[in-house]
Amino acid sequence: MIAIIGAMDEEVNALLQLMEDVRVESIGKVKFYHGTLNSKEVVLFKSGIGLSMAAMSTSICLSHYSIDGVVNIGTAGGLKDNQNVLDIVVSDKITYHDFDISPFGNTRDFSSNNRFVFHSDESYIQKFNQLNKDERVWIGPLVSGNQFIYNEKQINDITHNFPEALAVEMEGASIAHVCSEFNVPFIVIRSISDLVKNPKNEMTFDEYLHKASERSAKFCYNFMNVIE
Ligand code: SAH
Repeated sequence: MIAIIGAMDEEVNALLQLMEDVRVESIGKVKFYHGTLNSKEVVLFKSGIGLSMAAMSTSICLSHYSIDGVVNIGTAGGLKDNQNVLDIVVSDKITYHDFDISPFGNTRDFSSNNRFVFHSDESYIQKFNQLNKDERVWIGPLVSGNQFIYNEKQINDITHNFPEALAVEMEGASIAHVCSEFNVPFIVIRSISDLVKNPKNEMTFDEYLHKASERSAKFCYNFMNVIE
């Protein structure tokens, strides 16, 4: 069974609409939607926003169910100048941008000196790539933290330390972290809701939240054709 995780109602509902034979089970405050997506057996849930919510709910999921792989869907803030809203970003690796114990030698970058860089499953990336050659899809490094990124100071900090990062969001790295603890493969498939360098990107986020959620859900649906 594949676990699919979105942080917000809008992201989860976009995927729920594509599911069949849905039944709900709650564990604590987390609601798990069991069913099929494009004929694959899946369990979908809302993590809530931020690293702790994501780590907590993903841990509950992976300790209660037998999960073969995890897909994190939803929205992200684009970090690159040539991106557009609704582009798709897919993780090849992911880390926390705001985890900082650098005085002790753990670097804030994507090198092996950072203990918290998590790599997506290689076969997932390959299969995703084969499936989506012509669309506006970016595959590369993503970063997560407990901040909505919108101001110059935050952006400079991220682009200075993680120049290769394609996009930023608030859950992916902690989902990947829990997956690595449980030895479960993961991939992040999100759609860009806002470009962080644009002024008032929180308004763009609100405007594109639904459309980006639908696009992320659609790519996740198609990915079920090839995921094992
Ligand atoms: N409006 C929400 C908060 C949204 S936070 C509320 O009031 O509760 C933004 C969410 O979308 C997070 O779950 C994050 O993963 C993603 N996201 C999209 N754009 C982002 C950006 N520019 N910076 C950080 N996270 C972003």
